[in-house]
Amino acid sequence: MSARVIPLHDARQAPAAPLPAVGMAALPSLPLADTLGRPLRDLRISVTDRCNFRCGYCMPKQVFDKHHEFLPHAELLSFEEITRLARVFVGLGVEKLRITGGEPTLRRGLETLIEMLARLRTPDGRTPDLTLTTNGSTLVRKAAGLRAAGLNRLTVSLDGLDDAVFQRMNDVGFPVADVLDGIRAAQAAGLGPIKVNMVVQRGVNDDQILPMARHFRHSGVVLRFIEYMDVGATNGWRMDQVLPSAEVMRRIAAEFPLAPLSHSAPGETAQRWAYADGGGEIGVISSVTQAFCGDCNRARLSTEGRLYTCLFAHRGHDLRALLRGEPVDDAQLAGAVANVWTGRNDRYSQLRGTPAAAAEPRVEMHYIGG
Ligand code: SAM
Ligand code: SF4
Ligand code: SF4
Repeated sequence: MSARVIPLHDARQAPAAPLPAVGMAALPSLPLADTLGRPLRDLRISVTDRCNFRCGYCMPKQVFDKHHEFLPHAELLSFEEITRLARVFVGLGVEKLRITGGEPTLRRGLETLIEMLARLRTPDGRTPDLTLTTNGSTLVRKAAGLRAAGLNRLTVSLDGLDDAVFQRMNDVGFPVADVLDGIRAAQAAGLGPIKVNMVVQRGVNDDQILPMARHFRHSGVVLRFIEYMDVGATNGWRMDQVLPSAEVMRRIAAEFPLAPLSHSAPGETAQRWAYADGGGEIGVISSVTQAFCGDCNRARLSTEGRLYTCLFAHRGHDLRALLRGEPVDDAQLAGAVANVWTGRNDRYSQLRGTPAAAAEPRVEMHYIGG
């Protein structure tokens, strides 16, 4: 089979969006609202662009091979820089910090970063929710240390229970059993409730929906099904590979009656359902068939410190340049972030399929995090 050549839009080479002006005449009142009235509540921080998996929908092997150059260490935000920016975001209304990547647990000393972030407080003295998204491959070794460092919760990605299906999807031959052991280690360490995210691709792993549902019922784990998204430019996404959440729900409800649950927090991406027999909770994240841009309160910080206000943005604002340039204080940084957020008008998923949405290249997901 000849190799598929896929152009990689390398967001790292793209010019950054204009540097946000530092400071404002006066900080706007909180919560900050963007041009569509959406507050800033959630910050996702990518701590590495590297990964030990090669999921075809995220980092396909043909593109992310031995010739791909990952960011050199000096380009990455340091733990001090990440913590300083996170403090500024929390001061502006962020209540949830999610560490992601790439595979975040590959970043050396991650526990130290967790400890630093766990000390942050919101303006009214609360602890922000501190969580991590991982492929689960290192949890057997790392779960207890992450919990001890102050991590509250955890999301593990797992796309199937059948070893052949899962190994084909991670494309590095990683076994399901090791991820399941990792989930158990995380539960034993007190990281809960654990969420398990399954990206569903029609014809690839949709036969795993029911086995996954059966496995995680009565386990305390919240299983969530994610529609396969057109992030980045390397996964060759096609609409016919998306299995709509409505179909996922139909298949599960045919075996296990379900009752709807209310959203747990404003801006929550998942629609939640409970098994009628008390077997626990599941969720669906319908980013393609039911866009939820209307209350999207998420900002993303890339591995090298660019601020993206949408998963599908093509340019980020270079906050690292502010951190490493002429000295600026935290109030000036806050002003810069506020300037970006108050000018935000992103709503890619609502525009998907229109010429406006197709016009711009999109950033790769492992670089800004899920
Ligand atoms: N490596 C970690 C992991 O896999 O959990 C964290 C980073 S990964 C980019 C974050 C999440 O994005 C994962 O749950 C992954 O399944 C999801 N993801 C990646 N590419 C996706 C795509 N094309 N559509 C939907 N979800 C995707
Ligand atoms: Fe790695 Fe996560 Fe992307 Fe899979 S989804 S390639 S585990 S970053
Ligand atoms: Fe938020 Fe952009 Fe996703 Fe819409 S497409 S929900 S604005 S990240």
